[in-house]
Amino acid sequence: MLSQRITEISVTPIPARYPHEIARNAYNWGHGSIGIEWLVRARTDGGVEGIAINKGHLGAIGRDGSVADAMNLLEAVFLGKRLEELLHVSDGRVTGPTKEAKRAFRGQGWMSILAYDLVGRALDVSCVDLLGGKKRDRVDAYDTTLYFSDLNFPEKGAAMVAEQAREGFHAGWRQFKIKTGRCGRWMNPEAGARRDIEVIHAVREAIGSDAKILTDGNFGYRGRLDLLETFIRETQPADVYWLEEMVPPSVEDYRAIRNIQEKVGSEALLVCGEVDPDPISDVYVDMMEDGLMDGYQPDIVRHGFSRWNEIEEQLDRYGVRSQPHCFHNGVFGTRASLIWGAASDSFITIEDERCAPSVYKPDDFTFENGSYTVAEAPGLGLEVDEDIFQSVYVVNETKISA
Ligand SMILES: [Mg+2]
Repeated sequence: MLSQRITEISVTPIPARYPHEIARNAYNWGHGSIGIEWLVRARTDGGVEGIAINKGHLGAIGRDGSVADAMNLLEAVFLGKRLEELLHVSDGRVTGPTKEAKRAFRGQGWMSILAYDLVGRALDVSCVDLLGGKKRDRVDAYDTTLYFSDLNFPEKGAAMVAEQAREGFHAGWRQFKIKTGRCGRWMNPEAGARRDIEVIHAVREAIGSDAKILTDGNFGYRGRLDLLETFIRETQPADVYWLEEMVPPSVEDYRAIRNIQEKVGSEALLVCGEVDPDPISDVYVDMMEDGLMDGYQPDIVRHGFSRWNEIEEQLDRYGVRSQPHCFHNGVFGTRASLIWGAASDSFITIEDERCAPSVYKPDDFTFENGSYTVAEAPGLGLEVDEDIFQSVYVVNETKISA
């Protein structure tokens, strides 16, 4: 079964529509209303199709690849290859990438997810099983779309963010991540911290006492631990579940945050690491050794399943939880996180961009009351709807074959 060869690969940009415009965060200008999933479809001579999105040179902001580069790389790594040349499988589990694939997956982690999907479908088993088996039947997800919309709608202010949270609550989400760090770049520092606090309370009011509030500072409190202390103290009544990247990683600053937490009685998790280019970098290991990090967040699609297996092994030694970042990954990314989360012991919750249905068929991984069902399906269980693909998206498809 794994002797099948990959004979055709295509790349197609698929618009990924957010539930509302994604406004600024602490450092960037916002992401607009539409992202892109660079859908990669790989087909074998055995009639199997695997999919992924290219988050290497085509994926995220600030990188300068091209479709031509992507096709060259896909040709070199996948075209004409047998599936057994990509991953080693033993007793229904992937034991690791082959030596050759490992090199490619290290730089282009998303490719390992494509390999898992192909192998899962060829063997008719779920990627959850390939990753070690199901640890939970449902996987929680959080709404990650609450940015600085108060700055785009000054007449509404904090109520604008609360309004978007209320919409997410009505759509079924029960966990909400609120961007903070207005003090860093876009506002006078004291006024920015004050607005951050106001927004947290406005959202708590909008979503009720049972929903979870997470917050992400995108380093906006860099050099302002005094304002961060005010933020943590004054949001204490709103019961913040985690504090993400309030300041850049540093043993000294994270120890100071722990001290602040102790002083004000905050039990929020400290999570970070999405910016780590080569996980797990030394500063994060130092923080883990000192018990200063609770969850670690390199991107699930950028680094892929093979790399995340290595990361999780290391995190487990320190009792730090896997909490992969998942933004600019669209509908595909939510599924990749779901599959990873279903198979991980320590996973907390999916970062969900809540992108509208697009090129994929509806399936049994349904969302209800804050979590997704882990359905039984081969590979990632995510299927391209060929009718929709042909009628809408094929016009932008680039294809190579062996
Ligand atoms: Mg973040």
